[in-house]
Amino acid sequence: MTTHATAVSEAWVRALPKAEVHLHLEGCVPFEVIADAAAASGRPPPVPVTDGVPEVASLGDLLSYLDWSCALVAGPEQLEQAAYRICTRARAAGAGHVDVIVNPTHWPRWQGRLEAMLDALDAGFRAGEADYGATSGLCVSLKRNQSRSEALEVVDRLLELAHPRVVALSIDGNEAGGRESHNDRFAPAFERAAAAGLRRCAHAGESSGAGGVREAIELLGAERIDHGIRCLEDASVTALVASRGIPLDVCPSSNVVLGVVPALAAHPLPELLARGVRCSINTDDPLLYGVDLAGEYHSTAAAFGWGHVQLAEMARVSIESSFADEDRRRELLRQLDAFT
Ligand SMILES: [Zn+2]
Repeated sequence: MTTHATAVSEAWVRALPKAEVHLHLEGCVPFEVIADAAAASGRPPPVPVTDGVPEVASLGDLLSYLDWSCALVAGPEQLEQAAYRICTRARAAGAGHVDVIVNPTHWPRWQGRLEAMLDALDAGFRAGEADYGATSGLCVSLKRNQSRSEALEVVDRLLELAHPRVVALSIDGNEAGGRESHNDRFAPAFERAAAAGLRRCAHAGESSGAGGVREAIELLGAERIDHGIRCLEDASVTALVASRGIPLDVCPSSNVVLGVVPALAAHPLPELLARGVRCSINTDDPLLYGVDLAGEYHSTAAAFGWGHVQLAEMARVSIESSFADEDRRRELLRQLDAFT
């Protein structure tokens, strides 16, 4: 892989005010939080784990590890700890806000207990904000294989709970099954969420192509696309994303680990920017890939020979595209302006 020199120091990158907007709770459960439960269950992890980091080399590895680890989370204190640790890591990486995606279908011990799950996470985020100052919001995610009525049920439950920690409706899972991404099936759920004031983001353009990105925008009303990089497969979709100013939450290392791109130096991020697409840098499932947000900024800068200006622009888009409330976004943008 070709790497370029970057004049940007690791310390500068860590101090750069930024937000993280594409982060899955499922990929943020520290190994030590589940280690005791794993030992008691007698079920070893499906892939080797070294220093708390599982060896994930494919989407199959990722999903089997997630199934294994999430199934071990039964108590509120484990969820609280996972949420708190997200804030700890945000502080260490210089992130002043995190939007965290949680997909309730991944958590077998919490089925039918969404309110208790949200309360446990909320307690961890509140403690983390008090200790580290990083704010956070939850994007509750539908799964691509759910039915139309299951998706509507999730939204109705969210609207009934009106939990202040929940800021958005999201959708993730394998986009490649069947007719592009079945977005028509999920459109009513997203419409209902939008009418009630929830923000909307959607995974697309990772395991689906450019058509998935178009549908996420046109059928789901996505305000932000998680990944989205394959919009480049169709110039008209790239132009749509750029002209509407819809930001892409790009996760470079995740794309390399899961084989969406062959190497970091071959990542299409520079091309997206050249075509006028707004992009931010994120980690997706940081504990599964052994990465952190500041490290992602730094390795991306090294891969493309970027300096302070380009990284500050990434940070600006991350803050602008976050679902933090307006005052918080303004405050973080002020911090960024003062820093740069
Ligand atoms: Zn993701």
